[in-house]
Amino acid sequence: MSTDSRTTNAQLFERAQRSIPGGVNSPVRAFRAVGGTPRFIARAEGAYMWDAEGTRYIDYIGSWGPMILGHGHPAVLDAVLSAAREGFSFGAPTEREVELAEAIIALVPSIEQVRLVSSGTEAGMSAIRLARGATGRSKIIKFEGCYHGHADALLVKAGSGLATFGHPTSAGVPPEVVQHTLVLEYNNIAQIEAAFAAHGAEIACVMIEPIAGNMNFVRAAVPFVKRIRELCDQHGALFIFDEVMTGFRVALGSAQSLYAQAIPGFTPDISVFGKVIGGGMPLAAFGTTRRIMEKLAPLGPVYQAGTLSGNPVATACGLATLKEIAKPGFYEALAVKTKALVAGFQAAADANGIPFCTDSQGGMFGFFFASELPQNYPQVMASHQQRFNRFFHGLLDRGVYLAPALYEAGFVSAAHTEADIAATVSAAHEVMAAEAA
Ligand code: PLP
Repeated sequence: MSTDSRTTNAQLFERAQRSIPGGVNSPVRAFRAVGGTPRFIARAEGAYMWDAEGTRYIDYIGSWGPMILGHGHPAVLDAVLSAAREGFSFGAPTEREVELAEAIIALVPSIEQVRLVSSGTEAGMSAIRLARGATGRSKIIKFEGCYHGHADALLVKAGSGLATFGHPTSAGVPPEVVQHTLVLEYNNIAQIEAAFAAHGAEIACVMIEPIAGNMNFVRAAVPFVKRIRELCDQHGALFIFDEVMTGFRVALGSAQSLYAQAIPGFTPDISVFGKVIGGGMPLAAFGTTRRIMEKLAPLGPVYQAGTLSGNPVATACGLATLKEIAKPGFYEALAVKTKALVAGFQAAADANGIPFCTDSQGGMFGFFFASELPQNYPQVMASHQQRFNRFFHGLLDRGVYLAPALYEAGFVSAAHTEADIAATVSAAHEVMAAEAA
């Protein structure tokens, strides 16, 4: 453990707040939802991260999803280091971008072409511009509790009545900018039917997180997804799957492959990826059919660009990551560990008579201090916040790093061992027992 008192988390946080708003470069890192001092991470390896005080944590955030192989996987590290030696950025096309595009297309049958960008926000924003450009329509539908990045038109909360347009959730977003964004309740078929009945001819797209990781872990029910698909087809709207979190995380074919199993012939129209496809480097993508993608500049009228898009080091990282996850048995092994973790949490809660429920898919998991799995945002927020916060801190004190907010998903990586899961579950038993006492 470091004895250098200048590097404690609290001191770094105090210092950070002098030069960076709130001390962080992305709000959820500030621990506002759970209270306490954020850990300043010094380094990470495999399933572990070490903070500035030298304390080790079993990491279940994995950089909010990208680190599906764990930190510093040797093959990925080699690919990144050798790409960096060749050059950081050229602003000209490279073969590696083509290889990554081909790898994504090979794994996701609904995509014929992709464009690479640098963040999930950028990919989601560009997907919406493309949908609007391709349909010649303005209105978009999103669901309360889904996060698609911080583009202006998406920072919206539901209006007061059914099929009314939303209100900005951030200062700096003029109401006119969100006047075309309709916000509906997740998993509510009646609402989406009413929205299409009222505005069908004006709706460019419906955007959804198929498993909403920004509501901890809430699945879009199969009949809900099926109905959206039908409504989009009937009304000429495009269905956008935001798989920034679920992409290559819940299955090799992403969440859409799971819905295709349940709904014969199902595909979304446009898919948005991020996180895992960059393996921890700034990289994201959106893709669809060639016919729609050809609406993009330089071929078509929809403008979209980026200085660092398809960055050579990021694409090397993404390609090396995709190569590892495509190995036979990868997701099966990941799912076994993830299931063991949430089953262990459930057993710890049950043993102490605490209402609790969990869900998981592939390497993504969620849990709620509630007796039934929530289906929408109000139900997520009605789960027991104080219990979540105590559980979070109890585990953090025992060297386990979960997402610091009850509406965030968790992630298991290939680097987590059975012993890591067992240690986590044993810590959970202690914390649940203290909660029940
Ligand atoms: N879409 C989803 C589903 C996300 O979870 C996120 C980020 O967590 C984004 C979009 C935005 O991605 P980024 O943070 O890379 O801009």
